[in-house]
Amino acid sequence: MRLLRTVDANPEHPKEECGVFGVYAPGHEAARLTFFGLFDLQHRGQESAGISVSDGARVRMHKEMGLVTQVFNEEILKTLPGHLAIGHTRYSTTGSSVRRNAQPVSCTTMDGDIAVAHNGNLINAAEIRHELEDEGEVFDTTNDSEVIAKLLARETDKPMEDAVAAVMRRVKGAYSVAVLTPRQVVGFRDPYGVRPLVVGKFKGGYCISSETCAFNPVGARIVKELGPGEIAVLDENGVRFVQGVPKERPSMCMFEFIYFSRPDSEMYDTFLYAARHRMGEELAREQPAEADMVVPVPDTGFPAALGYSRVSGIPFGEGLIKSRYIHRTFIEPDQRMREMGVRMKLHALADRIVGKRLVIVDDSIVRATTTKQIVRLLFDTGAAEVHVRITAPPIRYPCFYGIDMARRGELAAAKWSVEDIREHIGASSLGYLSVDSVVKAVGQDKDRFCLACFNGEYPIDVPSDLRKDMFERPKVGAFATVRSGQGKFEFPEDEAGSRE
Ligand code: SF4
Repeated sequence: MRLLRTVDANPEHPKEECGVFGVYAPGHEAARLTFFGLFDLQHRGQESAGISVSDGARVRMHKEMGLVTQVFNEEILKTLPGHLAIGHTRYSTTGSSVRRNAQPVSCTTMDGDIAVAHNGNLINAAEIRHELEDEGEVFDTTNDSEVIAKLLARETDKPMEDAVAAVMRRVKGAYSVAVLTPRQVVGFRDPYGVRPLVVGKFKGGYCISSETCAFNPVGARIVKELGPGEIAVLDENGVRFVQGVPKERPSMCMFEFIYFSRPDSEMYDTFLYAARHRMGEELAREQPAEADMVVPVPDTGFPAALGYSRVSGIPFGEGLIKSRYIHRTFIEPDQRMREMGVRMKLHALADRIVGKRLVIVDDSIVRATTTKQIVRLLFDTGAAEVHVRITAPPIRYPCFYGIDMARRGELAAAKWSVEDIREHIGASSLGYLSVDSVVKAVGQDKDRFCLACFNGEYPIDVPSDLRKDMFERPKVGAFATVRSGQGKFEFPEDEAGSRE
């Protein structure tokens, strides 16, 4: 089966990481429930999908490159019998985009096979992998989940909670993990709680998911969001929660609220749609503009654009239409079409924007390439002014916790001032939301979040080899300090990037 990569509707956005889902439901087809759960987590990863299922004795698995609906059909689901399952949608942040790196990954133990699905990034995966290889382990993949699976397989003489806790003491980084054994589904979350994981209950069983939006198709309601360092075990006794390792300062990824998670999900007792609407309201207060119409960049800009419109009094209007099926094509555009860039994915509504002064609301600027194309598209279509407003603060630092943003030298806001970026994208004006206002819009304490890509304060210490990989080579004598939750470290100031 030859599959090509999907076309990203807006490559300006940071890339989603992964979605995990698990279910324990006696009397139900767990694979079918997991299929529908994954369908609602598709936005977190479009490269591959997989489901592992158990009938109480034997673990079976199917995974493949492609979208959930391309990987599974009725015939395949019939080969996956059982009442407990885990599933995964993948966007690769570690390990290359090939079938063998699709998840879940499985591992054979004395007590039967186990399967592991993971969202996040282990910052000491390479170190552990080398140690295990020295001890004779052979790895089939290059992803972090296999590291977790191998560690777990060595602990299966213990009760599951103890085995998982032993693994949690060994690995470092951001991880929300689902594990399937022949008789249990287990979820666990790193001690900082960077990536989300929530437990739900429905008539007939329990489930775990990266986001609550995946509860809808199974009719589940929230039991609780797993806390930092917490484990949930789903089995014949129901669900039980155990503190696997002591919790550190909670550091939920702020980008889950700004962009990654679906607007109909709920996290930290906050509805994402409402939080994004409030971000738009704050943006209108902090970054006002004289304009005739507020236009969202589809789809994620909608709630914030509505919030901006409400506070500013400027009418809301659709001026850009996204090609609805862009995520569904596996046919690569040819070179000429690629050069058209954003015009393949977004279309301007000429009759609504000609001669108008527009406020364009989007969630983030990474490299500024796509934003520049959107601004040009609107001016070419006849807009009089294009004021760009962004609900994320400027992204100045790379992410080491499972989000594929860019190296520091590629980040527009790490290289240029806001005025330089405005000039580069050709906008009439440019305004970002401040870190304090993003936090205010979410409605939680600032010290409950990871904000590292905005302020460089990394809650989990990052090893120097990873830092070197993501930061530019130093200019002689030019260093800046990045604050870390576990002490300070220095990184080299990168050189000013050349204009695209
Ligand atoms: S660095 Fe940014 S994207 Fe990465 S976990 Fe922290 S807030 Fe999220």
